[in-house]
Amino acid sequence: MNSDYTDYSSDRERMLHARRVHTITDRFSMANTYLINEERMVVVDPGTELNVRQLQSYLQHFLHRPLQQIDLIVLTHLHPDHTSGVEMLRSICDAPVAASAVARNLIMQQRGELHSSSIAHLAEHILTGPLQHVDLFPPVYERQYKLVDIWLEDVEGLPGHPEWRVISSPGHTPDSLCLYNPFSQELLCGDTVITIQGGAPLLRGSANRRQLHETLRVLRSLQVHYLYPGHGRPILALHPLTNIDVEW
Ligand SMILES: [Zn+2]
Repeated sequence: MNSDYTDYSSDRERMLHARRVHTITDRFSMANTYLINEERMVVVDPGTELNVRQLQSYLQHFLHRPLQQIDLIVLTHLHPDHTSGVEMLRSICDAPVAASAVARNLIMQQRGELHSSSIAHLAEHILTGPLQHVDLFPPVYERQYKLVDIWLEDVEGLPGHPEWRVISSPGHTPDSLCLYNPFSQELLCGDTVITIQGGAPLLRGSANRRQLHETLRVLRSLQVHYLYPGHGRPILALHPLTNIDVEW
């Protein structure tokens, strides 16, 4: 991949690298909703009903597109500040909702629905360290669980949007995911990384250090020019993750 984004050999390549993501937020970027603007649109983290109203107005006044052209809603994790606008948005656009398959597995495990060998697998790969999943998936998550239609696996392309890859990024929560487009070099990172005015991007901490190291390694291996966090301002710069701080 060409790492110098000013050096395109053709218009076609420039098209490939064009940014797709629009930020819908309040003036302080307290909680961000993102719109992937393609032939059909994807909304990432509808946030609150206020964000949904802002999204509605943005589509109407700036992009001149109907909300019905949204064909997918993605949740980067199941925290309520990212999900509480889902029902309102769905009542308008009727798009399916997608989230990490890790969340489904943990909730099923909590209900005792998983086969014991799958539990052993999960225990080995997801729940090692002092983290207790029961603390991370309180009963309130059952409500979010019911919102989800599509469970996304690591490295898989988004349904209908194969250029966008799911990157599993456990840390802030075990079910956290990022969305990465290697052509436009955009990374939507939910609460995995937040940005703070005047500081380096911060990888959110977790009691599971091994998982956090692995997430850091994966994120650093990606070519990123545009970083879109769930909270704080997006960073539009070469290699925004180079100086990332880690909240150990
Ligand atoms: Zn969160």
